[in-house]
Amino acid sequence: MTLTNTRFQDVREWDNAHFIHPWEGMPFLGENERTFVEGGEGIYVTTEAGDRLIDGPAGMWCVQVGYGNTEIAEAMAHQAREMAYFSPFNNANSAPARLAHEIAQRTSGDLNQVFFTTGGSTAVDSAVRFIKFRNNIMDRPEKKIVISRQKAYHGSTYLAASLSGKERDKGWLDQATHLTHFLPNVNPCQRAEGQSIEAFLDEKVADLESAILEIGSDKVAAFIAEPILCSGGVIVPPKGYHKRCLEVCHKHDVLYISDEVVTGFGRLGHWFASEDVFDIVPDIITCAKGMTSGYVPMGACIISDRLVADISGDKAKGATFSNGFTYSGHPVSAAAALKNMEIFERDGILEHVREITPVFESRLKALSDLPLVGDARGQGLLGCVDCAVDAKADDLEQDKNIGAMIDAHCQAQGLILRPIINMCVFSPPLIISETQIHDMYDIIDKSIRMTTDDLVRQGVK
Ligand code: PMP
Repeated sequence: MTLTNTRFQDVREWDNAHFIHPWEGMPFLGENERTFVEGGEGIYVTTEAGDRLIDGPAGMWCVQVGYGNTEIAEAMAHQAREMAYFSPFNNANSAPARLAHEIAQRTSGDLNQVFFTTGGSTAVDSAVRFIKFRNNIMDRPEKKIVISRQKAYHGSTYLAASLSGKERDKGWLDQATHLTHFLPNVNPCQRAEGQSIEAFLDEKVADLESAILEIGSDKVAAFIAEPILCSGGVIVPPKGYHKRCLEVCHKHDVLYISDEVVTGFGRLGHWFASEDVFDIVPDIITCAKGMTSGYVPMGACIISDRLVADISGDKAKGATFSNGFTYSGHPVSAAAALKNMEIFERDGILEHVREITPVFESRLKALSDLPLVGDARGQGLLGCVDCAVDAKADDLEQDKNIGAMIDAHCQAQGLILRPIINMCVFSPPLIISETQIHDMYDIIDKSIRMTTDDLVRQGVK
């Protein structure tokens, strides 16, 4: 069988017949009319039908340096020719060794121990497994519960999914509920009538401390938090939240995992957001996505020297950390990540993000004046328009699929967004120019107005 000269209609049928996509809606299995994206350049992608669209979500929050980057492609090809793959278990290779060194140079505090994974879920999974492993060696096998938050997303392995707090995703899949505890929503927009931001912040920090005290600090191993809850709808907790939560954690001997799978590698204008934006040095950082600009899968958990020192050498009791993957530190992925980081530095990508963020944020804020928009929020190059009819009510209870309606209008005008219930989220490639930011927001603004007209016609608004 040859794959050349295939008719597009065949490919669509094969996709429907054989490819189970992530978050596959089972009632529509085999009947999807997905858009095929077959090319890309800079911030634009091209569909099979020939449409050229701005990629609002940068793939899945990851294509930082944009599409068609031949330098990354060449670096990968070169590595594949030299040494594509060898077992990382008993051997080493210079590409991941160099990458671990480069990452350790850019993290804060003593976050210097890099454990490579295949993506974000496996980074979270490995971080949690490491913490449980450490507590076993330290003779505290009861200290295993991980505290997470409603609306959080930490991945799709059994453990990472169990730590995710999006209600809709929990419906039909089992969870390791005995290992987790969830704190209430930290979205300031849903705070009680008349409650000040300061009082809301106090309440959210108190939620964490009460949970630790109720469960018992001898049982709570860690708290995991995305600096900004991205897939949950770009929820930005009140200023000072992370710092105060870290203080609470350390007061009670609970480790703090900062899940920077989205915020790491430039999304907020820094290598990592934890210290530079939120003023914390966590115990573990997880990252993936932007690490290779999405050109090839890779993730990592970056662990504090101190945590490792507690259980190594004489203190190790002969233990082996029996966790790892065939593709931990894959040389081709490492070569892509190294080139990606080199491009970031040479082209001043972090500085560029910091420079254009005010334009992105001011256009975002202006969307909240539109009657359909309950809240327009974000930070750095992360944005969300939340069109919940009542911004304070739970979004699932008032699901009108408004996100998909806005996205459809955007696509017709040359922009892809990511719809989630009544929201649309976007996080364009970091190389986006100021003019392109305006192009993007002009389309979003117009599409929200068109959706409002549709809803009025349907009698919803
Ligand atoms: N953590 C966060 C914060 C994420 O947003 C994601 C993916 N969207 C993950 C973990 C899981 O990453 P992956 O899909 O690469 O396994």
